[in-house]
Amino acid sequence: MSFPFTIIDLTHSLSATTPSWDGSCGFEQSVALDYANCTTNTKFRVQHITMHAGIGTHIDAPAHCFEGSTTVDALALEHLIAPCAVIDISDKADQIYSLSTDDIETFEKQHGTIQPQSFVIIRTGWEQFWHEPERYRNNHQFPSVSLAAAHVLLKRDVVGLGIDTLGFDRPSDNYVVHATVLGAGKYLVENVANAHHLPRVGSYSIALPIKTVGGTEAPMRLIALIKK
Ligand SMILES: [Zn+2]
Repeated sequence: MSFPFTIIDLTHSLSATTPSWDGSCGFEQSVALDYANCTTNTKFRVQHITMHAGIGTHIDAPAHCFEGSTTVDALALEHLIAPCAVIDISDKADQIYSLSTDDIETFEKQHGTIQPQSFVIIRTGWEQFWHEPERYRNNHQFPSVSLAAAHVLLKRDVVGLGIDTLGFDRPSDNYVVHATVLGAGKYLVENVANAHHLPRVGSYSIALPIKTVGGTEAPMRLIALIKK
């Protein structure tokens, strides 16, 4: 029997040119030992990786903002695998736009109330600049989420939120969405890819960060399953 789901990769590939929050190189991969220098019969290429914990498609755990709260390794798998809803505001989201409560209302009129324990992706369309790091970073001007909208999504009892930009807050907004959502014990996923391949409702997301003890942020593989 064939696998009954179509699999969508919601993860950007990591490289030295991956856009980072501060504009520095956030990912370096080097060769520590190469095939030609390997003295064993079976030849190896051994690599080292140095990276920002919050690089590429990554998760923010509550401990990113709150000492003593949940770290990446302690996030429950039951919360990382969830029904997925996609609120698409790409037709209007410019660099100073923030998801509004009206946008959520419009979404729910069309697709029904967001189900409890859903992972909600806000698709702004900003992903189109991913391969132009300066433009994607844009001096921290990119579509975000309003505090009022974050409160509505928390009322829906989401497990976490995703967005296709560097962050849920522009620095000028004082990181209130980070504080509010992480403060409620939920997780955030930034730099989501390929959300345009998902239906608005009906898919499942699987969010798997690397399991670092004490981690506050971590790179991850985010995928979605759509029933065939
Ligand atoms: Zn963040």
